[in-house]
Amino acid sequence: MLHNDQLDAWDRENFFHPSTHLAQHARGESPTRVIRTASGVHIEDRDGHKLLDAFAGLYCVNAGYGRPEIADAIADQARELAYYHSYVGHGTEASITLAKMILDRAPANMSKVYFGLGGSDANETNVKLLWYYNNILGRPEKKKIISRWRGYHGSGLVTGSLTGLELFHKKFDLPLAQVIHTEAPYYFRRDDLDQSEADFVAHCVAELEALIDREGAGTIAGFIGEPVLGTGGIVPPPEGYWAAIQAVLKKHDILLIADEVVTGFGRLGTMFGSDHYGMTPDIITIAKGLTSAYAPLSGSIVSDRVWKVLEQGTDENGPIGHGWTYSAHPIGAAAGVANLKLIDDLNLIENAGKVGKYLQQGMKDALSDHAHVGDIRGEGMLCAVEFVEDKDSRNFFDAADKIGPQISAKLLEQSKVIARAMPQGDILGFAPPFCLTRDEADTVVAATLRAVTSVLG
Ligand code: PMP
Repeated sequence: MLHNDQLDAWDRENFFHPSTHLAQHARGESPTRVIRTASGVHIEDRDGHKLLDAFAGLYCVNAGYGRPEIADAIADQARELAYYHSYVGHGTEASITLAKMILDRAPANMSKVYFGLGGSDANETNVKLLWYYNNILGRPEKKKIISRWRGYHGSGLVTGSLTGLELFHKKFDLPLAQVIHTEAPYYFRRDDLDQSEADFVAHCVAELEALIDREGAGTIAGFIGEPVLGTGGIVPPPEGYWAAIQAVLKKHDILLIADEVVTGFGRLGTMFGSDHYGMTPDIITIAKGLTSAYAPLSGSIVSDRVWKVLEQGTDENGPIGHGWTYSAHPIGAAAGVANLKLIDDLNLIENAGKVGKYLQQGMKDALSDHAHVGDIRGEGMLCAVEFVEDKDSRNFFDAADKIGPQISAKLLEQSKVIARAMPQGDILGFAPPFCLTRDEADTVVAATLRAVTSVLG
């Protein structure tokens, strides 16, 4: 085993970390965190510290760490057939089985699954599919995609554009011109504090209508949204939001991509977020929870409506010119099959719904009265605590104070609990594995109260 000093040095010299302050890290001003092993909701670092991971990695290790059922499936697949491609009709038992398992669980009207590796590439696929769709239908002008401010859809060129967070645009010349943004359904951050939820939904609808009017419905192919905004702050939509938005999209023949990378396979206590909110998407993005991150795998579930046009396109133009070497990688597919079985066998979705609710209630009981806690919200096994400088005005703290990161650092230091300081605003996010117990939820709540009190008094 390598010594800590050696690992630290090699890390700084060689490793380009994602989403990291590169200069500070290279100078040794931020620690190298090496994780060695994990089990259930706990991870253990190289110094033997056991940490309660209340963010399931990046809200992806839904089944929990250290599951032998998934590890064995991966090992068996690697020994039997580590790789074969899925071009021109090739497949493996694992990839074919997984496609069937996904469709069995997906909302009605879904037809086929295209497999990728991560959420970003799946959304790149989705945008290309909408462009292809409209070209086949003879509508070459209908190409723009509407996303929401605070949405997160990936870090690629088009997906980084779809992502509505400044950090992901700044200095990258994004967003691309084909992507336009509309209001986030973020009721807590409404401009008019007297607005009811219903009025705020009407306002979001009016904003969307105005955008469509300005741009012209004939130029807009799709609308992408997470059922619950994730990286943008863990924000469930106000009541009636999705029904109202979908009515507008339908009127203008704009297709809906439900980005279920976080919500798919149980995080809201239902199989899909689309089920939870009564959405009827044309394409669903899946990743993370598909394999509980035991291997990289994503997917685009396409509806009958889209599929029929894709078929027509290939009849007219030949094979679809879109494919990754690792589409439907057998090891990812084997992990997916084992993971979905395990989630069923252990009733983990039901647990996510129940314990998630318990966690959120615990946070409310412990923190609602705190002078600097503005909002506590969530759905299923997703929870967020938002901090404000002043409770009445809901003013933000100065961003330079980094209140969110300070609290998450304190949580780790004092209690060895991992929560995520969300990238925009002082929001602490929780998204534990679905196997979290009530006792573990109590631990997370008590630790959070302690950290908040230490930083904000
Ligand atoms: N969509 C959503 C909703 C996500 O949360 C993420 C990742 N956090 C992505 C897409 C991108 O996925 P990946 O990081 O696997 O490319």
